[in-house]
Amino acid sequence: RTTAPTSIVVFGGTGDLAKRKLFPAFFNLFIDEWMPAHFQILALGRKPYTQEKFRRYVLENLREFSRNNNYTEKQWLNFSEKIIFVNFDITDENSFRNLHDKLTAFDVTCNRRANRLFYLSVAPSFIDKVSANLKKMGLASEIEKDRIIIEKPFGYDKASAVALNKLLNENFKEEQIYRIDHYLGKETVQNILAFRFANTFFEPLWSNRHIESVQITVAEQVGVEDRGGYYDHSGALRDMIQNHLLQILCMVAMDAPVEFESSLIRDKKAEILKAVRRIKPEDINHYTVRAQYTEGVINGKPKKAYKQEPGVDPDSKTETFVAMKFYIDNPRWQGVPFYMRTGKSMVQKKSSVIVNFKEVPNKTFVNSKDKLQPNQLTINIQPEMDIRLAFMAKKPGLDMTLKPAEMVFDYFECAPDSPEAYETLLIDALDGDSTLFMRSDQVEEAWDIIATIQEEWENGTYSPIYTYSAGSWGPQAADDLLSRQGHRWLSTT
Ligand code: NAP
Repeated sequence: RTTAPTSIVVFGGTGDLAKRKLFPAFFNLFIDEWMPAHFQILALGRKPYTQEKFRRYVLENLREFSRNNNYTEKQWLNFSEKIIFVNFDITDENSFRNLHDKLTAFDVTCNRRANRLFYLSVAPSFIDKVSANLKKMGLASEIEKDRIIIEKPFGYDKASAVALNKLLNENFKEEQIYRIDHYLGKETVQNILAFRFANTFFEPLWSNRHIESVQITVAEQVGVEDRGGYYDHSGALRDMIQNHLLQILCMVAMDAPVEFESSLIRDKKAEILKAVRRIKPEDINHYTVRAQYTEGVINGKPKKAYKQEPGVDPDSKTETFVAMKFYIDNPRWQGVPFYMRTGKSMVQKKSSVIVNFKEVPNKTFVNSKDKLQPNQLTINIQPEMDIRLAFMAKKPGLDMTLKPAEMVFDYFECAPDSPEAYETLLIDALDGDSTLFMRSDQVEEAWDIIATIQEEWENGTYSPIYTYSAGSWGPQAADDLLSRQGHRWLSTT
C-alpha cells in the first residue's frame, strides 16, 4: 500500500465516469484507510462549479453510487477537503499552466515532489492534447512517480490502437501508462488466477486432454440507454469482445507465470492472444454470429428495438450481440473451442466462464439408467459471484442410482461487501502495480484478432445481421454455432 503523498488529477472530473465510479471508489478507499495520508484530488472540467457546489455534487453522487453508505459526517468532511475543483479547458494551454502551479503548490506542502496520478476520463480525441501538454509542461516527468490512466476505448481498430500507443509512447514511458479494463479489477476475475495457480486440483486437467470446450458469456440486460450515439459507432465486437471477453479468455487460458509479477503475467497473457487463431475472411460466417435486438419484454417491461433507440441510425448495421468460436493454437488448447457471446437487452445480466470437461472415458456406468453428465466448472463473475463444480454422485439409497451434484464456493458469503473493480484498480495504480492493466502489445494483439471480422462486417456483403427479441438469449444462429459441434450454450434458463 502506497504511503507516498499523491496528487490525483481527474481530467473529466465533472463527467459520468467520475461521478458513478471514480469518486465513489476514491471515497471507499479513503474510509477503508487505503489512501495515502497526504493526497489531493484535482477534479478538472469546464462546468462552472464553485468548490462548495462541486463537493455537494460529489456527496449527492456518493449517496447514489457508493457501495458503502455507512460513513460518518467527519469522514465525509475529511475526504471532501481533499477534493479541489479546477476550472479547466483542455484546449487552453493556460489551464495546464494553472495545473502546473497547483501541483507544485501541493509538492511544497509535502516538502517533496509528490507522486502524480493523471486519470484521463475524457473522450479519446482529447488524449493527444492532454498527453502533449503534460509532456510539454513536464508535469509527468518522473517515471517512478507519475502515472497516466487511460480509459477504453483504446482505438477503433488495430491501426488506430497502434497510433494511440505511439502517441502515448512519445510522451510517456510504457511503465507509466495504465490502460484500464475494469473487468480485470473484478474479484471473481482476479480469483481465476488464484484458483488455477494456487491449487493443484485443476491445473493438471486444464488442457485439451480433459476439457471439451469453454464458454464465456457477458450478457447485459440494459440496452444502449442514453449512449446510442456512441454505441452505434462501436458495437458489441469492439465494445466487449475486443477487450473484456478476450481479457477473460487470457485469464482462463494463459500458462502459469514463474512469479506473480506484472511483466511476467502480462507476457503470458500476450502469448495467449498471439496464439488465438485468426479467422480467415471466408470463414467468418462459420465462426461468428452478429445480431441486433428488436422490440421485446425485459422483466415484464416493454423494450424498444435497437433501431428505435435515441441516437441510433434507423438503418443501423451495428451489432448489439456477438457469438463466436475461437481456437488457440498452442499445445495446451489445440482443438478446444472457446465460445464467446455478449449482448445487450438480453434476458438477464450474467457474466460467467463455463469449463466443460470431457465425458468419462471408462464404461463403468455405461448401463446406468441415469445419463452421466460431464463435469462442469462454472465461474460466475457477476451478478452471482461464485465457483460451482458439477459432478456425478450416488443418490442416497439401496441401489446404485446416480445424480448430478454440485460443490459451491460463494464469494458473497465470504465477502458480502467486497471492493468495486475501480477500487482495486485505483489502489494498484497508486501503488505502481500494473499487473491488472493492459500493455500496448496486448491491446494491439486483441485488435488483430478481430481485424478480419471488423473488415468483413463493415465492408463485406456475406455476413447476415440476425435479430433477436429484447429479453431473449440471442438469435437461433448463436445456438446453431454450437450445435454444429454437438455443444449447446449452458446456463440459458
Ligand atoms: P462524459 O460524461 O461525456 O464526460 C466527459 C468529460 O470531459 C466531462 O467531465 C467534460 O467536462 C470533460 N470535457 C469535455 N471537453 C472538455 C474540454 N475541452 N476541457 C476540459 N474538459 C472537457 O464522459 P464519461 O462517460 O465520463 O467518459 C469518460 C471516458 O471514460 C471516455 O473515454 C469513455 O469512453 C470512458 N468510459 C466511460 C464509462 C462510463 O461508464 N461512463 C465506462 C467506460 C469507459 P466539462 O463538460 O465540465 O468540460
